[in-house]
Amino acid sequence: MTVELQHIRAARERIAGKVERTRCVVSQSLSDCTGGPVHLKLENHQTTGAFKLRGASNAIAALNPQERSRGVVAASTGNHGRALAHAAKLEGMRAVICMSRLVPDNKLDAIRRLGADVRIVGNSQDDAQQEVDRLVAEEGLVMLPPFDHPDIIAGQGTLGLEIMEQVSDAAAVLVPLSGGGLAAGVAAAIKGVSPSTKIIGISMVCGAAMKASLDAGRPVQVEELPTLADSLGGGIGLDNRLTFAMCRALLDDVVLLSEDEIAAGIRHAYEQEREIVEGAGAVGIAALLAGKVGVSGPTVLILSGRNIDMDLHRRIVCGEAPALRERAA
Ligand SMILES: *Cc1c(COP(=O)(O)O)cnc(C)c1O
Repeated sequence: MTVELQHIRAARERIAGKVERTRCVVSQSLSDCTGGPVHLKLENHQTTGAFKLRGASNAIAALNPQERSRGVVAASTGNHGRALAHAAKLEGMRAVICMSRLVPDNKLDAIRRLGADVRIVGNSQDDAQQEVDRLVAEEGLVMLPPFDHPDIIAGQGTLGLEIMEQVSDAAAVLVPLSGGGLAAGVAAAIKGVSPSTKIIGISMVCGAAMKASLDAGRPVQVEELPTLADSLGGGIGLDNRLTFAMCRALLDDVVLLSEDEIAAGIRHAYEQEREIVEGAGAVGIAALLAGKVGVSGPTVLILSGRNIDMDLHRRIVCGEAPALRERAA
């Protein structure tokens, strides 16, 4: 099973009017320092602050009336839960988001404000997932996971269709990579239209589950470590059905970044581009600044989200160290 261009085109029709078609702008500073042109796909301006609304909206729109009446459930620590809560609210559907006790209050509040039923269970994503499994079994809710689902991947892929319209001669597209829903969808869309365009996944050194899995040739578990790119944390699932195979088939390369490099990306986005991005949204910029990806022809960076704690953002742009140990405590 895989997701192809036709599924992504169908997703686009389904979510039209429910998500923003975000702008794609030239970065003068990054073009100057790399030889460019470098384009920024401003998905940090998407409704709910991240691209996740594309997949969530598509998956909800694809439900049949019987599933709609049952409602949806997911385990999430942030952007997927917020997107799902928003999309469900628009359709007047019930949404239950299961989270561990470790989730920060600001993220909880954003999801509660959207009217979702938030369940706090246990101390880890695994505990939260157990509650999801229970709700599916006992209350008949429909589970919509954050990345390994065909309608989620197809929805994220709509971002790739927009990029191809906005920069039709793109030589390379740099995609933040965690569970791989974004990378798989964007790569399927772009390679479907322009097979020679290179798709490069970017993760952090601390806990790059997809990279470790690609290297091992099968899904493997990695230790979850604190990182500025918190939206890129977590595993890909040992029983991964779709995104591992798609990333293996479609990604041309995967590059890893240190915490200092990611911090430099956040700072550059703010000072040079006047954009607020979270760590995961800064990795494309960071990869160019660190010289880990070369520019040979039009290059597109996906600024995937902006949902960063603003106190942390302030400390990063002031040049204070990432202070990871303190945040992990
Ligand atoms: C979820 C997320 C990603 C990674 O997407 P995957 O589909 O899990 O690879 C990147 N950036 C942001 C802001 C996210 O919320």
